[in-house]
Amino acid sequence: MDKNLQNLVFAIDIGGTYTKIGLVNKNGLVIESYRFSTDAKLPYNIFLEKLSKEIHKLIKPNTHSIEAVGIGAPNASYITGKMISPPNFVWGANVAIRQDIEQLLKLPTYITNDANAAALGELYFGSGKSMVNFVVLTLGTGLGSGIINDGKLIYGQYGMAGELGHVNVFPDGRQCNCGLKGCLETYASVTGIKRTVFELLSNNNSESLLRSYSYDQLDGKIISDAAHQGDIIALKAFEVTAKILGRKIADTVAHLEPEAFILSGGLSHAGDLFIKPLKNYMEDNLFKAYKNKIKIILSNTTSSNSILGPAALALQELHKD
Ligand SMILES: [Zn+2]
Repeated sequence: MDKNLQNLVFAIDIGGTYTKIGLVNKNGLVIESYRFSTDAKLPYNIFLEKLSKEIHKLIKPNTHSIEAVGIGAPNASYITGKMISPPNFVWGANVAIRQDIEQLLKLPTYITNDANAAALGELYFGSGKSMVNFVVLTLGTGLGSGIINDGKLIYGQYGMAGELGHVNVFPDGRQCNCGLKGCLETYASVTGIKRTVFELLSNNNSESLLRSYSYDQLDGKIISDAAHQGDIIALKAFEVTAKILGRKIADTVAHLEPEAFILSGGLSHAGDLFIKPLKNYMEDNLFKAYKNKIKIILSNTTSSNSILGPAALALQELHKD
């Protein structure tokens, strides 16, 4: 092989709003990257055509030697290569995206769900670099999670393991996008805390900066800015969210005994304001043997660059043997 060519992987992070593509080297250095609208509400073949055009703009055949492709996508299975009924997409119940992209690029192609990819990104390039047992929680529109056990991502029998967003918090609780009721992500996510804010506003007369926002206007940053300014409703909303999530991750500790939970996504940007009560509530619910050991830390990788996750997946597959 020509020594002047850089050996790279091609990474694709498919989100409900944007798709990010990029070239990444084995040290996690992003050589080129670019993002475009996913248009998840338009048919899947339109996305494929757009992706194909964008890929060919980014790849320069005589400069880059690409060895593999890694994809992170909502509800994607590592085993089947399909996205299974991704919420907020109109692409159907079984989207054979790995096969389609493999055909497009004619390279070995691997896929997993976005939060699993984020966990691999942390393991190879991020906050999890020095650890072998940890759980990544992406607290964005939903709650994604990826579990690293003994240095390996847990895929499960059918490739869909580690969906902490859909464990039950309250029987017959809030309606979840997945069809179930009372799922953790309906409380512990940006969407979840928005729902909590509106519940608190309707049940309290307290003055709040948040009263002037409509549901669609409100986002995680507005809520955390208000909390930092001492807004009672915003602070209470973080407290409620931390209590529910803290209790559930204490259960996760009993299953896995991770060294740490690594948080990313909109909710995590509140920092200590959220992490301190979260840690306290987790500790309150831990079995004695686990107390004062489990860390809760912020991601230093995936929130800054979401393509590092799928890049880590491709690199891991290349160096499997
Ligand atoms: Zn659910």
